[in-house]
Amino acid sequence: MSALTVDDAAVEYSSRGRGTVRAVDGVSLEVARGQIVGLVGESGCGKSSLARAVAGLEPVASGQVLIDGRPVSPLGWRRRTGQDVRLQMVFQNPYASLNPRRTVGSQVADGLPEGRSSAVRHAEVSRLLDLVGMPADAAARYPHQFSGGQRQRIAIARALAPEPEVLIADEPVTALDASSQAQIVNLLVSLVAELSVGVLFISHDLALVREIADITAVMYLGRIVEMGPTQQVWGAPRHPYTRALIDALPRITEAPRLPVPLRGEVPDAAHVPTGCRFRPRCPVAMDVCTEQPPIITLGPAMAECWLAESARDDDRPSDKH
Ligand code: SF4
Repeated sequence: MSALTVDDAAVEYSSRGRGTVRAVDGVSLEVARGQIVGLVGESGCGKSSLARAVAGLEPVASGQVLIDGRPVSPLGWRRRTGQDVRLQMVFQNPYASLNPRRTVGSQVADGLPEGRSSAVRHAEVSRLLDLVGMPADAAARYPHQFSGGQRQRIAIARALAPEPEVLIADEPVTALDASSQAQIVNLLVSLVAELSVGVLFISHDLALVREIADITAVMYLGRIVEMGPTQQVWGAPRHPYTRALIDALPRITEAPRLPVPLRGEVPDAAHVPTGCRFRPRCPVAMDVCTEQPPIITLGPAMAECWLAESARDDDRPSDKH
């Protein structure tokens, strides 16, 4: 059984002048323990809305989110009862996610289960800080005394304190410099191997997701339009949006070629095109695309496109990006 199951989930917002906006529309995915699932797509595709709903920070309008087959409770309820700590979130901005007035140790200790002696809690905080590569004296210091990369390590230690089964990492390296980004990514990969925690890794950086994710899910305008083993999605993309994202990356080959910018922008979620959502930007759209495309299963992968089955394998971008 998967640690995290998102089953046909929808997230809606009420917005003045725009009515009800469906930011996530019927998304299903699974994250197993010891697995990294990368969720990619442009800004405005609904990635963060999905992350917040999965973490219980936003209500799920329909569908369900399950941990080990049991529904995830809203965050407020979890905080009040101390239950459902099996799912924790790492946010994009480590400057905002830590309290500047409290010591690092006290914030990491917040996530520890109740009922442990102060000596045990102290030892646990030291172990967690060591696990994420922080110096031994970090517990008594304050967040502002550390760099952005170190603060993200502290945030990860705090998220690991309740021994979660799944981490939701929402753009966890976007606010960091390049060297800190690489260090935090390496840390997450090693934690997955060491603790067998599952990670839903949300990023606009397809190249990064290609490096670390076992499964890649591509999101467009509230829907997952392609998902499967990362090697398969990258090596033989079946959805024109996935292909366009890949083509927009710089390619380093013997015959380098300029990236091909993705044309147009993600439409407002209040004005979803009829039929295929990607149709106004799709270079191979057909008349039939005014109707909702089917979800085509391709071995362990899926794609939501009328052309998914006939997408040419011999056209795949097999070279390095
Ligand atoms: Fe393009 Fe049609 Fe496929 Fe949509 S269904 S991605 S418009 S070919």
